[in-house]
Amino acid sequence: MKRLPFLLMVPLFLLCAGCGSQQEASRQFFAMDTVMNVTAYGPHGADAVQAVQQTVSRLDGLLSRTDADSEISQLNAHAGDGTAVAVEADVAQLLRLAQDASGLLPGTFDVTIAPVMDAWGFTTDDRHVPTEQALSDALALVDGSALVVDEEASTARLERPGMEVDLGGIAKGFAARQAEDAFRAAGAEAGILDLGGNVTVIGSRPDGGAWRVAVKDPQDTERYLCVLSLSDVTASTSGGYERYFEEDGVRYHHIIDPRTGWPAESGLLSVTVVSADAVLADVLSTSLFVAGEEQALDFWRGREDIELILCTADGRVLVTEGLSDGFQPAEDGGYSYETVRR
Ligand code: ADP
Ligand code: MG
Repeated sequence: MKRLPFLLMVPLFLLCAGCGSQQEASRQFFAMDTVMNVTAYGPHGADAVQAVQQTVSRLDGLLSRTDADSEISQLNAHAGDGTAVAVEADVAQLLRLAQDASGLLPGTFDVTIAPVMDAWGFTTDDRHVPTEQALSDALALVDGSALVVDEEASTARLERPGMEVDLGGIAKGFAARQAEDAFRAAGAEAGILDLGGNVTVIGSRPDGGAWRVAVKDPQDTERYLCVLSLSDVTASTSGGYERYFEEDGVRYHHIIDPRTGWPAESGLLSVTVVSADAVLADVLSTSLFVAGEEQALDFWRGREDIELILCTADGRVLVTEGLSDGFQPAEDGGYSYETVRR
């Protein structure tokens, strides 16, 4: 069970609902194993919200690993038998993006992680620490380079039997990208798409200001770490607190280090990535969580298109300088806040 899924990140615009005279349309729905909240302000809002739900639900149907009829389930079912499975053009594109994501911080992101997720029982109600043998068998099947995608033919195949793709680390980012396009195509210009931990803010608030997005405190998800002022970006957060189980007093979470097959223990409790590219934000939040503080900050220094909030296990909140405008720390969370400069 996902704990408090509806609190993944709490857009503070809720506090302002009804305080403007502008029309507002909002909707909550369940997709991709999480609760999603979409709000549009201004004209065409109802159409935009409807278009977002349709877009996300369509992708969910294509990508779900628990639905045996989905394209990804078909791809997985044919692993190793030589069949190039026909997929929708955007699914082929997503698979290619997932492969590209593995190259960002090598060793930290792999879309063929599914056998390891299964070994831990993360896809079932029976979560458990796997035996050493089960884990090494599963890990031997994790190999992103054995996923072959042909975007032109719109097909994909897995080269070895037993391999499986799990798009959990990228699907919501990709959905956000398509949902934003659908939102704008419907004629709406302002709103918030909260796709379970991936918050996309579009345009500006009815009063003209930037949106305010709260980042959850990974140690107490009813509180928040900080509030960010954002416009036209996605803020994606990954943390060990989202999905986990306990065995013999030890907590095991769902973000796996593909090099070991174990839940990543990098010294970070959560990573928030802010970017105009929703796919990049989603994959990097997972990838940087696995990589840890030092590598994450090195990576940030080499790029112009992301900003980060890192929450460390020793009580620090690191904020990259591009987020300092309008940044508000929580007052009483017991964290120390540091701005990281290039
Ligand atoms: P959430 O789904 O809670 O928003 P993430 O975006 O961090 O969190 O994605 C975690 C999901 O990604 C896992 O549930 C699993 O499906 C998948 N996953 C876990 N570890 C990895 C990894 N190292 N590389 C790619 N995907 C991963
Ligand atoms: Mg992610």
